[in-house]
Amino acid sequence: MGIGRTLLLAASKSDFLNRQATQRTFVKRAVKAFMPGERPEDALEAGAILAREGLGTLYTKLGEALNSLDDAQAVHDHYILFFGELHKRGIPGEVSIKPTQLGLDLSMPSCADHLASLAKRADETGSVLWIDMEDSSYVDRTLELYRAVKAKHPTAGLALQAYLHRTPGDLAALMPLAPVIRLVKGAYAEPAYIAHAAKRDTDLAYYDLARTMLDAAKTKQCTAIFGTHDIPLVQRIIARAQESGVADGAYQVHMLYGIKMGEQRRLRAAGRTVKTLISYGNAWYRWYMRRLAERPANVGFVLRSMFG
Ligand SMILES: Cc1cc2nc3c(=O)[nH]c(=O)nc-3n(C[C@H](O)[C@H](O)[C@H](O)COP(=O)(O)OP(=O)(O)OC[C@H]3O[C@@H](n4cnc5c(N)ncnc54)[C@H](O)[C@@H]3O)c2cc1C
Repeated sequence: MGIGRTLLLAASKSDFLNRQATQRTFVKRAVKAFMPGERPEDALEAGAILAREGLGTLYTKLGEALNSLDDAQAVHDHYILFFGELHKRGIPGEVSIKPTQLGLDLSMPSCADHLASLAKRADETGSVLWIDMEDSSYVDRTLELYRAVKAKHPTAGLALQAYLHRTPGDLAALMPLAPVIRLVKGAYAEPAYIAHAAKRDTDLAYYDLARTMLDAAKTKQCTAIFGTHDIPLVQRIIARAQESGVADGAYQVHMLYGIKMGEQRRLRAAGRTVKTLISYGNAWYRWYMRRLAERPANVGFVLRSMFG
């Protein structure tokens, strides 16, 4: 892992820097490149515009580890209303949630109940509930939560991280459930015995997992979603899908709002299903530091914003 990435991921855990950054106007200006605004309405308005261009959208309210079950309940209640808003506005959007936002650190049964309730609401409103994958200490519990949700709500999806050595085994174990998987590279700082340290190894692991997912997608044993901005990798995956006869509609590409938007539109124009994940909320510090860590050159955005 590069020194810039290591430092940025370490800084993401600092409460002091969190307080400093979120008070600085120039940082807020830089964050704008990655989120349309802090309010849910900002996200929904941006989503409606993207929908008119044929891009699907996913939404996530920023915020991670919570202090009380009341906080988790509030996050749950927020998303119940949010699903209703998507439906009311006719936006074909989905929702992506971190289990810690629903209180995973405080009570696994309560987190499971919230997920079950949100998955039900997603079904009722014609939407989809996604479960994000957080750092490696949460993987076993997140897989367990996903299994429970998926048993009753077949469209519910789960993110898996290609950088984890365990992921090929996790993917194989999920296959009997006909899983809906968003494959991502992985955004957290992990030791080398848990995750590939070199980006090249993660990229190779990603392509291997993608091939497994495409083979399974062909027989509808898996719904394959590729969450990456790595365009050469996406092109290789598309080529592989075409060679092996996987229909265009049988897989999707998901990217983050503000990153490679031109490529998102080009892929859409070429007939792919592309969805953009839009974040909102004021707890953006940790999330934003992970975005900087993915591309330390983004720190330049912050510096440029500092000078207007
Ligand atoms: C839809 C979606 C959902 C995700 N969900 C999760 C999750 O649940 N758990 C998890 O651990 N991670 C998640 N991630 C983040 C993911 O793990 C990676 O950290 C992130 O996508 C960067 O890796 P990459 O695949 O884009 O590839 P990279 O090889 O890192 O980047 C490919 C290209 O995209 C550009 N790029 C990448 N990131 C940025 C950025 N922040 N700013 C500007 N350019 C950039 C790079 O410069 C490079 O040109 C998600 C990502 C996406 C797109």
